[in-house]
Amino acid sequence: MSPLSSTFTGKVLTKLGKVGRDEIERFLEGVVRERNFYEAVFEALSEGVAIMDTGGQVLLLNRVARRMLGVRPGRKVLGRPLLDAIGDDELRALFTARGHERLDHVPVTTAQSHDLLVTLVPVRESGTDSLLARVLILADVTETRRHERERARAERLSGLSLLTAGVAHEIKNPLNSLRIHGQLLEQALTEATWPSEIQGERSARSAAIILEETQRLTRIVEQFLQAVRPVEPRLVRHSLNVILRRAIEATAPHGMEPAIELELDLDTQLPDVLVDDQQMTQVFMNLLRNAAESLDKPARRIRVSTRTAGPMAEVTIADNGCGISPEHLERIYQPYFTTKYNGTGLGLMVVHRIVEDHGGRILITSREGEGTEVTVLLPLPERPTRLLAEGKRPS
Ligand code: ADP
Ligand code: MG
Repeated sequence: MSPLSSTFTGKVLTKLGKVGRDEIERFLEGVVRERNFYEAVFEALSEGVAIMDTGGQVLLLNRVARRMLGVRPGRKVLGRPLLDAIGDDELRALFTARGHERLDHVPVTTAQSHDLLVTLVPVRESGTDSLLARVLILADVTETRRHERERARAERLSGLSLLTAGVAHEIKNPLNSLRIHGQLLEQALTEATWPSEIQGERSARSAAIILEETQRLTRIVEQFLQAVRPVEPRLVRHSLNVILRRAIEATAPHGMEPAIELELDLDTQLPDVLVDDQQMTQVFMNLLRNAAESLDKPARRIRVSTRTAGPMAEVTIADNGCGISPEHLERIYQPYFTTKYNGTGLGLMVVHRIVEDHGGRILITSREGEGTEVTVLLPLPERPTRLLAEGKRPS
């Protein structure tokens, strides 16, 4: 017998033998009123709530829970297993995978695109600790999530004005240089009194600088665009090893002169992660480029490795380059902080943002004169997330 009915009947039975009919009626009315009151409260909850007995049969289910679980109208649920009544594919997949295991704020996006947090709590009798029931609570966080996304967007926009001011400042130098060398080139080409070798030499030098400065401008604009584009990552299962190889190929540090010794130590057992592969390629390209640009010794080495580190996938890019001083280390993520003549100072800022957007972390340790090690940690998908992601995107 369920605990609810045992208290009801218990109350009624103790009263029955001792009192008159009127009093019994008044008492029963009171009981009904009380019951209606609790039912109304139960129905008024904004969370979906389902109460199951120890065998998993539904004892009570409010309207919100019916809607969230996708129970078909008119379908009988009470006294039957909850799983049989769930119409929503994503939720059914979650419960099939988890069974009656404890769920605690487990996020799931339903087939109807609602973001829910699912909690399943056992209710135990105080004192004996024996299981009385299980209560399933479904909270709709779609709106909260939307607000979070909007706030993040607003924050990005305010960062944008800072970046824009920075870019205006950044392009001033190359533009100045372009103007000066444009004038010098014109002078060299039109100066009739100069010997032709000097004319040629000066024109070539100015042209080279003009070319270099144009490239610098292009880099600034490209990085600026990467930094400001408000892109949410499109998360799909990918092998980090594959993405790394692609980034290495695109950066081609092994093809650089003088040659770079590239050591790869990729864990073939590394599980796939949920990432935006284009953004992640960008991350590794920026890091590899920084590593390559730091190399200042005759033996030029970069080591790239991957491994599983607890619940995270770990990627490490280490170089034996110039290293970073402690004062600089504090500033490397700031936009426009650069120690390079040709630098934009946006690379690591972009890297940091993308990694954070993926729920990951980046750690940089460095010794001046010896080298730098950059570690990117990305969360490995949990089992149910993987199950739901697979359900959503058959591949
Ligand atoms: P940029 O490469 O355009 O200078 P980044 O944001 O990529 O901009 O890097 C900022 C600064 O951090 C660099 O100018 C450099 O001083 C330092 N840095 C980053 N990575 C490394 C590295 N692997 N070795 C040494 N210094 C580095
Ligand atoms: Mg860089």
